[in-house]
Amino acid sequence: MSQGKTHSPVYMDNHATTAVDPLVIDAMLPYFTTMFGNAASRNHQFGWTAEDAVENSRNQIAKLIGADPKEIIFTSGATESNNLALRGVADMYASKGNHIIVSTVEHKAILDTAKYLETKGFEITYVPVDEFGMVKPELIRAAITDKTILISIMAANNEIGTINPMAEIGAIAKEKGILFHTDAVQAIGRIPVDVNQWKVDLLSLTAHKIYGPKGVAALYVRRKNPRVRLSPQIFGGGHERGMRSGTLNVPGIVGFGKAAEIAGSNLELESARIRRLRDRLHAGIAAQVDELKLNGHSEKRLPNNLNISFAYVEGEALMMAIPDIAVSSGSACTSASLEPSYVLKAIGVSEDLAHSSIRFGLGRFTTEADVDFTIQKVVTAVKKLREMSPLYEMAQEGIDLKTVKWTAH
Ligand SMILES: *Cc1c(COP(=O)(O)O)cnc(C)c1O
Repeated sequence: MSQGKTHSPVYMDNHATTAVDPLVIDAMLPYFTTMFGNAASRNHQFGWTAEDAVENSRNQIAKLIGADPKEIIFTSGATESNNLALRGVADMYASKGNHIIVSTVEHKAILDTAKYLETKGFEITYVPVDEFGMVKPELIRAAITDKTILISIMAANNEIGTINPMAEIGAIAKEKGILFHTDAVQAIGRIPVDVNQWKVDLLSLTAHKIYGPKGVAALYVRRKNPRVRLSPQIFGGGHERGMRSGTLNVPGIVGFGKAAEIAGSNLELESARIRRLRDRLHAGIAAQVDELKLNGHSEKRLPNNLNISFAYVEGEALMMAIPDIAVSSGSACTSASLEPSYVLKAIGVSEDLAHSSIRFGLGRFTTEADVDFTIQKVVTAVKKLREMSPLYEMAQEGIDLKTVKWTAH
């Protein structure tokens, strides 16, 4: 790394959002200018062109997850997809039962929707996860009652990257005849996703986590075995098979489709490359910093995720000490206070250690130079902060004292 020169900031927050791929932008641009039609305009060329583009995207997205294009419903974000899945099923199947199963580490778009449904008379079981953040299929089975209408379990966690045993959970849901939804936002484009292999009936995905634009997403809704019905949550015009009305965001959808196509064609190579970089980052930090704790599963984890606790260092202080590196901390800024992440809490990480955690999220545009720059910056900052930490000093001395005692006797 060149000394004295300012390195442009390194983006290590690809779980939050990703840069739009230049190929995606190229695909989108004409749909802002000459091809600006409304995909619902059935009586002229402008409308047909837009509709063709939307259907092409539907194909590209369906292909990425092993679905039929007719099963793809466009939405404004995975937040909306998750809302539509949970509320749409709750409303439609209320006469069958009022019980829904989710995990404790779901994204807020699931947890807050579940909380809302509780106020409407639904009962929610929040299934705990193990120390690695994984949902145990037996616990799902045990939570099922004769009132259960839906199971919603994320494919991969957005903080710690843990990948759930989707096919096993899907098999249980199928056996019991219960609808199965997954928030697959983080898994898409990083691990193979197939709606039939996982036996999911509903699946949420979003463009901006796979190098597409923000504000466009989809919900997969199974049409056969079983045919899932949803109560729409947005009315007007009957777009998207009546499940989600509203003029389609054609350029956004075109970008989403292109992003899905690229993700599918590059998945294996890209994931292998990013995993190597992620492991290089982890090893590079671990070689120079002690008392690290990896949060999440060592193997069943997204290839781009690295969430580590740096004991005796405040995550917020560490983030401020590395202004050139864009990462997230294990603390969530709520209205007034700094709360430890509920995901880290759920896997048994102490409050102190949760506040010492940093999430690195690598991506398509991460380079080896970015990784090495990050290692250097993080190591320097952690060492400096620990030098100022009396606790770290005491811990270090503690270990020394023990050794001294042990040899002295
Ligand atoms: C980002 C994210 C969402 C929300 O998606 P939006 O398209 O930003 O609304 C939902 N679930 C998970 C797991 C996410 O990472």
